[in-house]
Amino acid sequence: GTTDDVILATDGLRKDFGGFTAVSDVNLSVRRGSIHALIGPNGAGKTTCFNLLTKFLSPSQGRIIYNGRDITALKPADIARLGLVRSFQISAVFPHLSVMENVRIALQRKRGGSFDFWTSQRTLEALNGEALRLVEAVGLADFARIEAVELSYGRKRALEIATTLALDPEMLLLDEPMAGMGHEDVDRVADLIRTVSANRTILMVEHNLSVVAALSDRITVLARGKILAEGDYATVSKDPRVVEAYIGG
Ligand code: ADP
Repeated sequence: GTTDDVILATDGLRKDFGGFTAVSDVNLSVRRGSIHALIGPNGAGKTTCFNLLTKFLSPSQGRIIYNGRDITALKPADIARLGLVRSFQISAVFPHLSVMENVRIALQRKRGGSFDFWTSQRTLEALNGEALRLVEAVGLADFARIEAVELSYGRKRALEIATTLALDPEMLLLDEPMAGMGHEDVDRVADLIRTVSANRTILMVEHNLSVVAALSDRITVLARGKILAEGDYATVSKDPRVVEAYIGG
């Protein structure tokens, strides 16, 4: 591969909180079209990295390059507009709207419109069709008319993924997509991630290592704020430094 294959890169990314360095010397390189996992023990700096990539936090040092463009100085909304979207970033779930209504609103938002009384019937039908397709894709067809607040935790996460997908991002940052899910939901969301990765890039933080093993093309292991190892699952899981970092905490 050439550098053209890299969709997202960081150069010397660093974050200090007062005198404490949470992330340093992080040179990340995510290939276009890949599923890339960011793993590491608690406190390794994964969340801080995600917050830096989406500019929820400003880096103390370093640069973030997306599609060859320096996005370090941009605001979160501008980064999202470029197609780099973190799940739940724009797509808040409205608890007292139904699953369908939530997805429809997210689709409306992608088009830059507000949901408007005068929207033509044809547009509404197309919108409903698209919303239903997404609802089915995340396994919520039987819950389409249920209010979001009534959903189980796992199904709520699936809805959040659906509303994020409605925005049709080029690259998706998934923050522990499997957190709090039972086996069935984990399998369904894993299938969903595989499906949606066909035409986009995914970077995820995930604690469930069997999910990471099953889904990831490439894995970056963080420990104490630095990149400890990189490679496919077979490579990093055999790396004695990685084993040490997980056992040593
Ligand atoms: P992870 O997501 O891998 O568990 P975090 O990125 O949440 O790790 O945290 C990395 C380190 O930075 C931890 O030691 C954490 O306590 C510290 N940290 C995170 N956010 C802040 C903050 N806002 N102020 C001070 N320290 C922080």
